[in-house]
Amino acid sequence: MADRRIDCPTCGRSVRFDHGGEAPFLPFCSRRCRLVDLGKWLEGEYRISREMTGDDFLEEDHFNSDQIE
Ligand SMILES: [Zn+2]
Repeated sequence: MADRRIDCPTCGRSVRFDHGGEAPFLPFCSRRCRLVDLGKWLEGEYRISREMTGDDFLEEDHFNSDQIE
C-alpha cells in the first residue's frame, strides 16, 4: 500500500500518487481537470435552476400542505 491509484473524474486518467507525497489536486490529476469539473458542476447547477418549472413549485406546495395537515 505504498501508493494508491485513482481515476481522475474529469479525464478518466489513472492517477498514481505516493502515500507520503503531496497530491494537491486530488481526486483530479491536475489543476486543469479540477477546474473543468468545478465548471461542469456550476454549469449543471445553473441549468437546473433555469429548468425549474411550475411542476417544481407545485410539488413543493403539495409537500408543504402535507406538513401543515
Ligand atoms: Zn484529469
